[in-house]
Amino acid sequence: MANDSNKFQAIISHCKEYGFIFPSSEIYDGLSAVYDYGQYGSELKKNIRDYWWKWMTQLHENIVGIDAAIFMHPTTWKASGHVDNFSDPMIDNKDSKKRYRVDHLIEAHAETLPKEEGEALLAKMDQFLAKEDFGGLKSFIEENKIKCSVSGTCNWTDVRQFNLMFSTEFGAVSGEGDDNMVYLRPETAQGIFVNFLNVQKTGRMKIPFGIAQVGKAFRNEIVARQFIFRMREFEQMEMQFFIRPGTQKQWYEYWKEERMKWHLSLGIPASRYRFHDHVKLAHYADAACDIEYDFPIGFKEVEGIHSRTDFDLRNHQEYSKKKMQYFDNETDEAGKPYGNYIPYVIETSIGLDRTVMMVLSEAYEEQDLSSPEKQDSRVVLKFPPKLSPVKLAILPLMKKDGLPEIARQLMDECKASFRCFYEEKDTIGKRYRRQDAIGTPFCVTIDHQSKEDGTVTIRHRDSMLQERISIRDVKELVEKSIQ
Ligand code: ATP
Repeated sequence: MANDSNKFQAIISHCKEYGFIFPSSEIYDGLSAVYDYGQYGSELKKNIRDYWWKWMTQLHENIVGIDAAIFMHPTTWKASGHVDNFSDPMIDNKDSKKRYRVDHLIEAHAETLPKEEGEALLAKMDQFLAKEDFGGLKSFIEENKIKCSVSGTCNWTDVRQFNLMFSTEFGAVSGEGDDNMVYLRPETAQGIFVNFLNVQKTGRMKIPFGIAQVGKAFRNEIVARQFIFRMREFEQMEMQFFIRPGTQKQWYEYWKEERMKWHLSLGIPASRYRFHDHVKLAHYADAACDIEYDFPIGFKEVEGIHSRTDFDLRNHQEYSKKKMQYFDNETDEAGKPYGNYIPYVIETSIGLDRTVMMVLSEAYEEQDLSSPEKQDSRVVLKFPPKLSPVKLAILPLMKKDGLPEIARQLMDECKASFRCFYEEKDTIGKRYRRQDAIGTPFCVTIDHQSKEDGTVTIRHRDSMLQERISIRDVKELVEKSIQ
């Protein structure tokens, strides 16, 4: 088994070799922190997206989904605070000219220290960040002799803020200043906020209720070298839950627990997760935490849960001059009507690509299958069957004697219900290995006995056990496993 940093590299190579993820526009040497999903990666990503969507919208009766545009009126981003606040403190090394996000620079240094010392360093950094004391941060970096990994020197510029939004021009006319400039959305949440009343009124939604959305977001990340963990174009799965003011603590706890249930339902053990409470809160939040997963590169955020108060709706009301209020006709314990108010919001925000990375990290296994007679090994992706890109591989043992016909018939019976893969070439052993490498939970082999008694060999990916079952039972067996 590869060690953890090797494992990360091994996963990246595996993703490329088996059609999961390619660097974007690779023939032109790629584009930094932008990736394309291949034939199996796009299936895996879609299955995760669908699973999240179903769990959030279908299983929670008070949550509905929308699909808002990526382009939004530019004032949206003034109201949301992104124009003024969506920035990261950066520092440049004067010798190498390399630019770092300050928190990443200090975190990388902390990892080289003994545990307690590293933690103390991070706690101190959090204090500077919370106070936005950038002068203090620079001195802190110098005092701790934190060096640039390229030049090896401690020759730093001042710490500066860098806005992460991409902008572009809108319409046919260009070069007319800021008037026709739009941003590529840096989060999907604002598409939900601006549609809050549209959905509430047309859906006759009663508080508490949620609006979910999946879509692309764009951030001009400075340090972007962690494969699909940190991309410049990525996908978010977000849900805004609208509640009565004053109930935010209770709903925040509810969503922390509920989202963790979703993670555990992927079959990932609880020990691989932890909550990380934020010390420095974003400009819109009164409480926030991350769900962190133990990636091969260490525990890192995969999802954020934020108590966003009424910050967004209140600001949209102010900037748009349109009322963002909800009329609550219920009464409190004293019999007093709640009446009109701007709802508070709890947000759950998970990165789809980071979830793909998490699912891949959890599933990837290198196994030594050597026996005294021969050396052997395999790479297997132990995905939960519901997330596997291909559910069933149908493999006739030979290309003759009527075996392909039986296999094709099974293929026709199953392919409308779930993704199947048909293959006649190579030895059965090689075909099994290729399916292990893309995480196919079941392979079915059709042989001469199948012609006689209508049975096939079904092989289970994880145990590699094979059993003989009736060809008529194959479809149901696969369907049960992916429910
Ligand atoms: P980080 O601290 O890692 O930059 P964040 O706290 O800025 O993340 P949020 O704004 O809370 O992230 O976004 C919600 C989720 O979107 C994150 O938990 C993450 O899964 C995903 N996400 C954010 N930025 C990126 C990115 N550049 N590439 C891929 N996924 C991302």
